[in-house]
Amino acid sequence: MTATTHILPDFDAEAIRSDFPILSREVYGRPLVYLDNAATTQKPRAVVEAIASEYYNENANVHRGVHFLSQKATELHEASRETVRQFINAGSTSEIIFTRGTTEAINLLAFSFGEAYCQAGDEIIVTVMEHHSNIVPWQMLCQRKGMQLRVLPMNDDGTLQTDQLSTLLNSRTRLLCITHVSNVLGQVNPVADIIRTAHEAGVPVLVDGAQSTPHFAIDVQALDCDFFAFSGHKIYGPTGVGVLFGKQKYLEEMPPYQGGGEMIDHVSFDHTTYNQLPYKFEAGTPDYVGTHALATALQYVSHIGMDRIAAYERDLTAYALSQLRNVPDIHIYGHAPGATTADDAVISFNVGHIHHLDMGTLLDRLGIAVRTGHHCAEPLMRRLGVEGTVRASLAFYNTRADIDALVAGIDRVRKMF
Ligand code: PMP
Repeated sequence: MTATTHILPDFDAEAIRSDFPILSREVYGRPLVYLDNAATTQKPRAVVEAIASEYYNENANVHRGVHFLSQKATELHEASRETVRQFINAGSTSEIIFTRGTTEAINLLAFSFGEAYCQAGDEIIVTVMEHHSNIVPWQMLCQRKGMQLRVLPMNDDGTLQTDQLSTLLNSRTRLLCITHVSNVLGQVNPVADIIRTAHEAGVPVLVDGAQSTPHFAIDVQALDCDFFAFSGHKIYGPTGVGVLFGKQKYLEEMPPYQGGGEMIDHVSFDHTTYNQLPYKFEAGTPDYVGTHALATALQYVSHIGMDRIAAYERDLTAYALSQLRNVPDIHIYGHAPGATTADDAVISFNVGHIHHLDMGTLLDRLGIAVRTGHHCAEPLMRRLGVEGTVRASLAFYNTRADIDALVAGIDRVRKMF
């Protein structure tokens, strides 16, 4: 174990890395430095083995089967719902809807909430730093219903102009949709305060938790958010599984999003009645292997401890910022020193006139995986006045050595230009 991996005395990143087989592979003959965790995280052995084990030992379609395997698979699937409930501290498993990911969760909400509560002339508020998946479904709803999308702006340092909320919120506002952590700027938005302000105006709030859930403990009851969405693959779970949490009082009133098996109570050609929550929103065979693997991932991170993960990652982010700030001509977006928002594990930057794509491509040749481009946040790019950025995003299996490799890599690329 090297000193550089040992930031917190009781956090053994090196031992954790050995749980993730892909981290020990090489690319282009160099050790992999994986800094693209905001796009997707790598999977611990336990998650991959949970998938294989269920297919080998327990595979059968869930819910309707009377036979042994179907009951086993159903037990695993429903136990996963309970694991998710505990992980985000929801009040009931009725409030946990399995989806394909954050994107599908928000589309479900935009359709179903829109049908239940929205009409022409109503308004939805989003912020300027949303991912496209928390913009476009709302735009589509606005187009369908003749509604208006309103946008909460931000300051140059990347903090939201929350003082503008009181002018945006009005009697026509139906929902406020905000990302917990920006997938570009990596700052933690003060969602608890924003939710309080919205509630004072009688407006419910959706929190996009795609980039927060992997990094610190979530308590939807303490936040008092009305809806919360996240993706399994960003929190060390499999692709194709995600979660929409919704307060029961809304979910009860909202109509189904898709029709099919599972979501019904009784069907006739004249009349169909719908299943109880959460099944009303889960048409068709669910990805029950995926939900079990997601629960395995949540148990894995819970075993390490979300608070320990948060402390380690905040320390690593501070180290990364301190090292990157020494790079000549670097422009780091957000993360203003002294800003009131917390720094999360995502850092976007550009260096001099080097195109982000050139930087990303050349870093890749050094074995360093970063993401380049608009990061599915084109309105934010426009606000920042750039076409794209280079984004390094950290996980708890990253080390100071990874950051040192990134900084050395950037230096090498800089010297080539
Ligand atoms: N919201 C944010 C903030 C994200 O970072 C992402 C993924 N980049 C999404 C939503 C969409 O997640 P998914 O593609 O897993 O549905």
